[in-house]
Amino acid sequence: TDGNSKGADNTAVEITELGVDFGSVTALADVSLSIDDGEFFTLVGPSGCGKTTLLRSIAGLETPSRGSVSLGGQDVTDEPPEERNVGIVFQDYSLFPHLSVAENVAYGLQFHDLSESRDTEARVTELLELVDLAGFSDREPGQLSGGQKQRVALARALAPEPDVLLLDEPLSALDAQLRKELRVQIKTIQRDLGITTVYVTHDQAEALAISDRIAVMRNGRLQQVDTPETVYRQPASRAVAEFIGDNNVFEGNVADDGRHLDVGGTLVPLPEGGNRAAGQSRTVSIRPEALSVTDGQRADAPTLSARVETVEFLGDAYRVHCRWNDRSIVVKTAATTPPEGAVDLQFDAEDVHILEPQRSGSTR
Ligand code: ATP
Repeated sequence: TDGNSKGADNTAVEITELGVDFGSVTALADVSLSIDDGEFFTLVGPSGCGKTTLLRSIAGLETPSRGSVSLGGQDVTDEPPEERNVGIVFQDYSLFPHLSVAENVAYGLQFHDLSESRDTEARVTELLELVDLAGFSDREPGQLSGGQKQRVALARALAPEPDVLLLDEPLSALDAQLRKELRVQIKTIQRDLGITTVYVTHDQAEALAISDRIAVMRNGRLQQVDTPETVYRQPASRAVAEFIGDNNVFEGNVADDGRHLDVGGTLVPLPEGGNRAAGQSRTVSIRPEALSVTDGQRADAPTLSARVETVEFLGDAYRVHCRWNDRSIVVKTAATTPPEGAVDLQFDAEDVHILEPQRSGSTR
């Protein structure tokens, strides 16, 4: 599809060939992206991949070196942040410490229509209810937990009814349990309001959990843009496979029959329709939960003979770190006792995913 199509009136954010340099560092290289109205869109990737720079470029807090940003069909590349109708929440809350919760939220309304005080009060009350903080209006930020502060920051960002909500690692400073609770709350509020949301995280599980679509980034480029399910099940590249979902990734050469990959002397079957020319070098991925630990019961299933090295108990499953030939391989099993010693790892050829060689710079 043509990423530049104008006038598609359900496009909320359109990024075209965007590049951002900091001196000799290219933080973003040739990024093109369309985000639909009402979509929950997440930028995910390792530290330094350019997520924050892309989000800040949408907000107008970063000046692009190349390319353009459009919001709601308007080119805003040269507009300052206050001319773009976006709301932002940062990792560190950025609340005013000497203002009350209500005043912090009302601050978000200051330059907007509801400046008349009774309306402001009603709107603040409504927003605090939305983020489940009714009754907290008179507190100061110092009297709030991290999760509560972040909900105030969210209410403040939503106050002026922005067209786009931008969230930069909003949960990173919170503990694991709270992170999970708050991400559900953010998702629920987002869906209820139907607000276009761009969310930045380095946490792949968080990205998979809350998003309509994900952009996996690396080295200032988009690696794959798709639904969480597709990114998880059909990673577009080795980088995506390794970053999302704990995949096992193996390299080998296609065997003479064209239907197996020779991985260090073991023939790993390729999926149906996955035939390749003999001798070609290929990389495949297998998800940890696609492997099962057996005693070789499944006579027809492909088998890898491995040795258990370390077992982690996850509550509902074990994550088993094994050694297979000279490689490490991870299995997730719902067994009730931890496997040990020599094991057979069996799988279906359909669960082997062939990673096509990366085309440079392309995301589609
Ligand atoms: P993190 O998760 O660590 O915040 P990120 O994916 O958000 O990382 P960015 O903050 O966008 O990455 O940074 C992308 C690249 O640009 C990095 O190499 C970073 O060091 C560099 N960079 C970002 N901001 C600046 C700046 N103001 N001056 C110089 N280099 C910068």
